[in-house]
Amino acid sequence: MYDLIVIGGGPAGITAAVIAIHRRLETLIIAERWGGQTAYFMDLEDAADIHDMITGEELLGRFRQQLDYLDFSRVYDRVVKVSPVGDHFEVITQDGDCFETRSLIIATGAKPERLNVPGEQKLLGKGLSYSVVTHGSLFLGKDVAVVGTGRRAQFAALELARYAHQVYLFAPELLPADQPLVTTLRRTENVTIHEAVTVQEVRGDRYVDGLVVEAVDGARLDVAVKGIFVKLPRRPNSELVRDWLALDEEGRVKVDLYGAASHPGVFAAGDVTHISEQVLVHIGEGAKVAIEAHSYLLAYWGETAEA
Ligand SMILES: Cc1cc2nc3c(=O)[nH]c(=O)nc-3n(C[C@H](O)[C@H](O)[C@H](O)COP(=O)(O)OP(=O)(O)OC[C@H]3O[C@@H](n4cnc5c(N)ncnc54)[C@H](O)[C@@H]3O)c2cc1C
Repeated sequence: MYDLIVIGGGPAGITAAVIAIHRRLETLIIAERWGGQTAYFMDLEDAADIHDMITGEELLGRFRQQLDYLDFSRVYDRVVKVSPVGDHFEVITQDGDCFETRSLIIATGAKPERLNVPGEQKLLGKGLSYSVVTHGSLFLGKDVAVVGTGRRAQFAALELARYAHQVYLFAPELLPADQPLVTTLRRTENVTIHEAVTVQEVRGDRYVDGLVVEAVDGARLDVAVKGIFVKLPRRPNSELVRDWLALDEEGRVKVDLYGAASHPGVFAAGDVTHISEQVLVHIGEGAKVAIEAHSYLLAYWGETAEA
């Protein structure tokens, strides 16, 4: 029986596992893909100094090295079932292994939001980004586009409007009326909103040059931009726990201030929860839930010793 099983090998899961191992917990980390979604870097034509930026991959590298060394504590496999059994949990993998644990950290991330149009793959990191927090400031004084309808897209457009020259918001659906954020967006001078449009192509040879969109009536618009931020809805990988953990309306695992989920002994961190979507934040969240899982176990062991 393990003290702790961490499901997920992205920033949240790797950090959680390393912290737990340092605290001498019998820990196992199970991940289908090592490193999660951290292997993205922005390279722009006229921004040589951005190479000074620390990438998510670099940041995570030191933690990962420690797990590479402790090979008994990790398994590369897909978890197909997790369930509470009495006062512990059973974790079953695709290869048919069954592991038991006293506590769990769910750090399975979210499915990336893709445009799935020509040019997207080629120009990823060449002006096309999924993170305004990380790359937005590189587009000072430039024309940029945001693709998305929901709050993530709305916030991204507002943030960019503070330093970009012109922001085009291409919303696949109609923006909701009477929402303060939408009202602010409509009033912001350097934001142009196009609703009910679908992206057809990301244009550019070596770097992003523009975006082609199509309206419902079939009219096409070709807009020149240097940066494109994709902010479509992300789907959390929470299927494993949806029958027995509380999720929000978008399927994200609900956690309290300490990262505790609705079932005792279960914690969650990273993109599978509602907490930000930044590598740096998820490293912190991973550390936090490992510490909280340790505290939970100390209390559990104390109680069972007394009984
Ligand atoms: C294209 C792209 C670009 C991005 N750019 C940036 C950026 O520039 N800056 C930034 O800060 N953030 C960026 N992000 C966001 C950032 O990468 C994520 O917020 C972060 O990786 C989430 O960390 P996580 O640990 O929650 O999950 P993830 O990194 O998604 O990792 C999830 C882990 O869980 C594993 N897993 C899932 N389901 C199972 C299962 N059933 N069994 C076993 N393992 C499972 C996966 O294999 C993976 O190891 C980007 C994301 C994308 C998709």
